[in-house]
Amino acid sequence: MRKTIIAGNWKMNKTVAETKATLSELKELTKGVEGVEIVIGAPFTALESAVKTVEGSNVAIAAQNMHPKDSGAYTGEVSPVMLKEIGVKYVILGHSERREYFHESNAFINEKVKSALAHDLIPILCIGEKLEDREAGKTAEVNEKQVREGMAGLTPEEAVKVVVAYEPVWAIGTGKTATPEMAEETHKEIRDVLAAMFGAEAAAEITIQYGGSMNAKNAAELLAMEDIDGGLVGGASLDAPTFIQVIKAGAR
Ligand code: PEP
Repeated sequence: MRKTIIAGNWKMNKTVAETKATLSELKELTKGVEGVEIVIGAPFTALESAVKTVEGSNVAIAAQNMHPKDSGAYTGEVSPVMLKEIGVKYVILGHSERREYFHESNAFINEKVKSALAHDLIPILCIGEKLEDREAGKTAEVNEKQVREGMAGLTPEEAVKVVVAYEPVWAIGTGKTATPEMAEETHKEIRDVLAAMFGAEAAAEITIQYGGSMNAKNAAELLAMEDIDGGLVGGASLDAPTFIQVIKAGAR
């Protein structure tokens, strides 16, 4: 059975002090919550204290990006070795904001996915169409390309370790959410692509999260859909009492 994973993406928000305060609150609130993997993507500067703060709880910590190489002349970058050293478990890769503002290509994201797996970090591979793609009827095509190129060269054994986050770009931070039916249709298409690449058995094991203005009000109906196995949550993950409601909507 595939895992339900609810992950918060804090983006460029929260100092170390703010991270400690929110995670201490979340640690209390998540006590006894079962049947859902809880992840927080904190900013780089706060990762080490985030890992320490959640020790002994069922919250895992994610980085929001990484460079594929172990070390070298890549000014300003952070390597998988550095993330592993401090106890980070997940890494968000290919977020649409990185694709848009930092021009990350599918090929570069693919390098990162492979590197994360080689270092025993769980990649959360973000994909999703822009509004103009959806309006042009290209949703399936765009997502297929991002999945095929982002996961190129993986074996089925590696593919099942990847978490795919379907995030329609038009729904991120806009308050516009895909309807559960609309999201389910795309999740099903993505799972079909995964089945064509890695086989039906592997595809059935891969967690596909939905992301895009998921919140305490809409999480339950999105997460009730057959192929929606969790969420990648931006705005609604910043406040622990709000985020716990999304987490509980995903607890099976
Ligand atoms: C995100 O950052 O991945 C995201 C989905 O943001 P929001 O929930 O704020 O739309």
